[in-house]
Amino acid sequence: MTLMPDTRQILDQDAHLIQSFADLDALKAQGARTVISKAKGAHVWDSDGNKMIDGIGGLWCVNIGHGRDEMIEAIAGQLRELDYYSTFYNFTHPKAAALAEKIAQLSPGHLNKVFFSNSGSVANDSAIRMLHHYNIRKGRPEKRQVLSRIGAYHGSTYLAMAMTQPSNSVGWTSAADGLVHHLRSPHFWREGGEMSEAEFLDALILDLETSIDRIGAGNICAFIAEPIQGAGGVITAPAGYHRRAWEVCQANDIKYVADEVVTAFGRLGHMFASQDVFGMTPDIINTAKGLTSGYQPLAATIVSDEIHDVISAPDGYFLHGLTYSGHPAAAAAALTNIEIMEREQIPERVRTTGAYFEKRLRELSDIELVGEVRGSHFMMGIEFVKDRATKESHPDAAQVGPKVARACQKRGLIARPLGNVLILSPTLIMDEPMIDEIAGILRDAITEVA
Ligand code: PLP
Repeated sequence: MTLMPDTRQILDQDAHLIQSFADLDALKAQGARTVISKAKGAHVWDSDGNKMIDGIGGLWCVNIGHGRDEMIEAIAGQLRELDYYSTFYNFTHPKAAALAEKIAQLSPGHLNKVFFSNSGSVANDSAIRMLHHYNIRKGRPEKRQVLSRIGAYHGSTYLAMAMTQPSNSVGWTSAADGLVHHLRSPHFWREGGEMSEAEFLDALILDLETSIDRIGAGNICAFIAEPIQGAGGVITAPAGYHRRAWEVCQANDIKYVADEVVTAFGRLGHMFASQDVFGMTPDIINTAKGLTSGYQPLAATIVSDEIHDVISAPDGYFLHGLTYSGHPAAAAAALTNIEIMEREQIPERVRTTGAYFEKRLRELSDIELVGEVRGSHFMMGIEFVKDRATKESHPDAAQVGPKVARACQKRGLIARPLGNVLILSPTLIMDEPMIDEIAGILRDAITEVA
């Protein structure tokens, strides 16, 4: 598909020049932006008609692939029936209710109550707001601080950004200063030093325990963690970390909030990763992205029965809500998305295809520029270094990822650069030939830059 030349010109001069996580100055240049104008299956097309593999699944979210007619019909059908109604006060509608029921059925153990929002950031904010409300209702309002981790990405609203580390703008100070504490990064390859992985794990748990002692368990409402840190560079913690952190939280009456915005709905081969992959049942799971595969904006904060019992006890009012909470079209999209995932056994297939993807990407470790290939299944990162022995980064480390990403795009693959890391999180409908194609493009692109 080719846009008319004058349309192209309008795109270069339009007002959409404040984009997410962008160099706003660079955006002003003619032709600085890639205009994605069409998508189908595992591919997207730019406005010049170039077909590319969507190696980042939109933004780790288009799990079932692009352009599914069944999804479009479900959304359109819902809009014809009921375009919008709020879920404030005592209003609900059939799709929001059915979706909450379905999520409760799929999520582990005692996680049976659902609050809807529209983005992962707001799902994370909502979880903390809920826990503040929970502790106020339990007569301990001072139990409100949050433990997060270096390398976390929990979103861009003010609170979610305060839980993110490092925060993303120079000179930024958090409105939530004093509320959030960041524990050590769980990245063994970078942070492990002379320790074995088992020793490093012990050190991480000790850091958690001593932080709790220092701050006081009576002042901490939550520990929030992504099962695998995503935008922090795809960091997997040592095996057993989440289970042990969860045990420490349980022993200290601190709620474990799992940020499964990326990992839920198939990316690691399961509907939810917390229990099936990491062997623990959090008190709250937040999910978004794969919940609708990106066809509509929707997020869910899934909470335990016990939390719900407290926040719903008589004589209290939960003062939190969003106009588009559980939007009918988004709920319809999520229900159909989950139906497709179940019918096509997408999580089950990912256990095989994702493992193959991981294997093919790990083979790139033999290229001189590659320091570490890490991640799991369809959530992978490649870190580039100047010197593999010392793990020293390039002097212009922030430019290496973008250079490799440009070399990939030239060859028909969209990958996401994050400084000296390249992220790959494609749709979950990849087959082996397509995975081989991605691996081939990556090898050529990295070798060109090396
Ligand atoms: N949490 C995690 C783990 C994420 O990766 C993201 C976004 O990438 C968010 C939260 C924020 O989600 P959103 O951009 O929908 O607000």
